[in-house]
Amino acid sequence: MNAITIDHLRKTYGAFVALDDLTLSIPQGSVFGLLGPNGAGKTTTFKCMLGLVRPDGGTTRFSDQTFSPAVLDRIAYVPERSVLYEGMSVAEHIEMQRRAYSKFDADRARELVKGFGIPDLRRKTGKLSKGMRTAVAVALAFSRSAEVLVLDEPTSGLDPVNQRTVLNLIVNEAASGNTVVFSSHQVGHVERAAERIAIMKDGRLALEGMVDDLKADRKIVEGIMPDDSATVAALNGNPHVRRVERNGRILRAFVSGDAAAIAEAMSAGGAAGVRVVDLDLEDIFFDAVAPASSTADLVEA
Ligand code: ATP
Repeated sequence: MNAITIDHLRKTYGAFVALDDLTLSIPQGSVFGLLGPNGAGKTTTFKCMLGLVRPDGGTTRFSDQTFSPAVLDRIAYVPERSVLYEGMSVAEHIEMQRRAYSKFDADRARELVKGFGIPDLRRKTGKLSKGMRTAVAVALAFSRSAEVLVLDEPTSGLDPVNQRTVLNLIVNEAASGNTVVFSSHQVGHVERAAERIAIMKDGRLALEGMVDDLKADRKIVEGIMPDDSATVAALNGNPHVRRVERNGRILRAFVSGDAAAIAEAMSAGGAAGVRVVDLDLEDIFFDAVAPASSTADLVEA
């Protein structure tokens, strides 16, 4: 069962296409990480999903319901920039949310806020630091008992301890059956918390899948080459080779699929010390968002 189904979403601002035919399914009870360079369309995706901007085409469904104001009761959203009322205290925000949402757990909110290192709930949120305001917004969202949490860069501006707290909250939320979608520029955070990811680029989906599957499929095959451009050309022509980088005599082929066969081809081409190297999610991210011109050609690193 999918908690969220995004179908052919498109959003333009004048002539500019911010989202171009985005289709994604997010399984219930999972953590889904959305990655992409600045301006890739992550926030626009969230806003279209939640009815905050009107898409030019496409739909979003939550479980089997299309978006409506009633659905919002089941969804907690933390926007990129905190939307707290600066003249109101933390305690007043908790009280406001308690009145607005029937399932809101005020005790949990107080506990979470204190856990983020904000002991005095009487403080006006305008007097809190940027990171503390984000922490308050996150604490409020995680006290909603929401079925779906949509978090736009929830660890941005937080100190390392609070970042870890947020990642733990995300993972625990999914363990209790709810669904979390979050964006981050910190690929390591996404790798730690998300089972499934999508990488966006220029409003389009560049890559999507289970983190473990993407890592199992993608490898780097590395070897020290004699000066032999014929082997480089042969590697570039291989459908499993996504990209080849050369740094002096060290050749690195970014491989999708049969890494062992590529390693053999490199050895046969005279390479010494050939080895297959695992990628982390950051390597996969860089590979997915690399300029198109560098994906097929030889790159001098
Ligand atoms: P970041 O990582 O920097 O937060 P993002 O992936 O969230 O980026 P979006 O905020 O979704 O990116 O923006 C996608 C593109 O749409 C950008 O080029 C942005 O300038 C453009 N855009 C967003 N909102 C508007 C708007 N209201 N009017 C015009 N262009 C917009």
